[in-house]
Amino acid sequence: MTHEADHLEWPFFEAGHRTLALEIRRWARAELWDESEPHDVDAACRALVRQLGAAGWLRHVVPAAYGGASDALDGRSLCLIRESLATSSGLADFAFAMQGLGTGPITLFGSDAMKRRYLPDVAAGRRIAAFAISERGAGSDVGAMETVARRDGEGFVLDGEKTWISNAGIADHYVVFARLEAGKQRDGDRRYVALVVDADDAGISVPERIDVSAPHPLGTVRFERCRVGADRVVGEAGAGLRVALATLDLFRPTVGAAALGLARRAMDEACAWVAGREVFGKPLADHQMTQARLAEMAVRIDASALLVYRAAWTRDTTGRRTTREAAMAKLHATESAQRVIDDAIQLLGARGVQKGAVVERLYREIRALRIYEGTSEIQKIVIAGTVTGRA
Ligand SMILES: Cc1cc2nc3c(=O)[nH]c(=O)nc-3n(C[C@H](O)[C@H](O)[C@H](O)COP(=O)(O)OP(=O)(O)OC[C@H]3O[C@@H](n4cnc5c(N)ncnc54)[C@H](O)[C@@H]3O)c2cc1C
Repeated sequence: MTHEADHLEWPFFEAGHRTLALEIRRWARAELWDESEPHDVDAACRALVRQLGAAGWLRHVVPAAYGGASDALDGRSLCLIRESLATSSGLADFAFAMQGLGTGPITLFGSDAMKRRYLPDVAAGRRIAAFAISERGAGSDVGAMETVARRDGEGFVLDGEKTWISNAGIADHYVVFARLEAGKQRDGDRRYVALVVDADDAGISVPERIDVSAPHPLGTVRFERCRVGADRVVGEAGAGLRVALATLDLFRPTVGAAALGLARRAMDEACAWVAGREVFGKPLADHQMTQARLAEMAVRIDASALLVYRAAWTRDTTGRRTTREAAMAKLHATESAQRVIDDAIQLLGARGVQKGAVVERLYREIRALRIYEGTSEIQKIVIAGTVTGRA
């Protein structure tokens, strides 16, 4: 076993976190453990959101005043929940994470009316959320985005196309990032706006769905003369980039936490296998090369946990920007988890790549975490920028 409860003794946590961690682990094991991959991923995701809402876990993605669990979003709770969900079911972790990412901008920057309109239903699992910033020509290079918001009276008219959007097609609302209308030259960071678009608004459509190696709802979202009222502006027009970056500061460590959960599961699978598998007259676990591999896996897991919970604790307790800590946590935990899972597959030999094997599923599930919410290369650029003072 990976002693996955050990880290709860670390000083990053309060008593409430320790209780939460044990409860979510127990629940996830009882309710979600190794469900087979669904036939209909949309239906499975909708059901998971309802299930997570009914069990109360989605209360952690919104503040208490709007049906949530604590006064402000608590990064450590989000990380502990994602870690446990990912250990049991990658799809459940995804469903939980998107409820947070697709409302984070509203929680952090929205008006009281906007929060009342969206957050309670998200917390109850009655509303599905999405976050739409990426475009075909603007993934890492967010500044290249072409989706445009033109002033129309008090509100905006939105035109453009977002792609690789999680929950596209099943979301009830999308937090959409757009460039403010061309022509009005604005300073670099003040060129963007974040808007909430409802799935049943006129002018929004999902023209394409995208299949990926670890299935989850994903697609392209198109906006054609889509009118958005002034009451749907998140924060203020011009603050779009700040809204996006603050949301990512909160959620990037949680991607690391999900990676940690996947890595822990791989470690458990590997430990169980090497204890029972005999090669050359003794258990695989008794061969020193196996022990060296397990030791490296264990160090990677603990280092990831330290960085993930350092980032969440720093943000929760100081309230300051944690761009560097968040980037380090995401970079290290996702890259390490990929290595740990690959090592687990190597230890299982042929069984590791067999369809239906847990580690084979983990191998597919971890891959996208090194790409979304900023690729590993982008995290390195962010970290280097903070080290050199050129961020
Ligand atoms: C499963 C999945 C779910 C997603 N969900 C969402 C979502 O819900 N909402 C959303 O908005 N987006 C989502 N995305 C999109 C994701 O955020 C983008 O894929 C990501 O930002 C990378 O953009 P890109 O794919 O265009 O790659 P590119 O930006 O084209 O990058 C290609 C490669 O070049 C590297 N690269 C880029 N710039 C540099 C540089 N300066 N120096 C060195 N290397 C560089 C990258 O690291 C990468 O390896 C999702 C993606 C996936 C895979």
